Amino acid sequence: MPSSTQAMEKPKETLAYSLHGNCYLNITWHCTLRCRFCPKFNGSWDVQGYNLWLHEEPGVEQILAAIGDPAQYREVVFCGYGEPTLRLDVLLEVAGALKQQGVRIRINTDGLANLVHGCDVTPRLAEVVDAVSISLNAQDEPLYEHHCRPKRHGAFMALQNFARRASQRGMDVTLTAVNGLEGVDIHACQDIAEHLGVKFRPRKLDQVG
Ligand code: SF4
Repeated sequence: MPSSTQAMEKPKETLAYSLHGNCYLNITWHCTLRCRFCPKFNGSWDVQGYNLWLHEEPGVEQILAAIGDPAQYREVVFCGYGEPTLRLDVLLEVAGALKQQGVRIRINTDGLANLVHGCDVTPRLAEVVDAVSISLNAQDEPLYEHHCRPKRHGAFMALQNFARRASQRGMDVTLTAVNGLEGVDIHACQDIAEHLGVKFRPRKLDQVG
């Protein structure tokens, strides 16, 4: 029978997890979006065998310790069940420490950092981030609003402006959309990426990448 101390122990949290030869970082559960297709809004915090439930948001030292030796990975990707740019200072500090060790850094983001922070944060990101994968998720605003339910007005245009600025700052930018999501025209999404001068990649539902 567990002692009362054992009974109160928190389960181990997944701050860093390994997939596809990359290290993925789970630094927050907060989001600017409330995507209808998101597993966490459907009662699941599991991503390909990893439970991403967090009891509290980790600090810089905790995150770096969870990564271990970053040299074993092709790249380190900020991508949890939350929007990493909502913790911009922590993201920049962790990425800066890794960058000094020659690690390639990517963020998977909703592209709403400039809208949320009220200023252009792409210059700060460009100092430590190599690549940015941005969820476009729809070919037009009504469909984006339907699937992603943003908490802020103007999100669909804001993410496209963020993509353009991030690319202009020299980051390797890719827009993504979920193939097979109701109403999503993958070719029209690809056209938006081409118009912005960035790359495009179709995603599978519930698949981290
Ligand atoms: S941005 Fe990602 S984590 Fe946040 S609600 Fe949408 S799918 Fe879920």
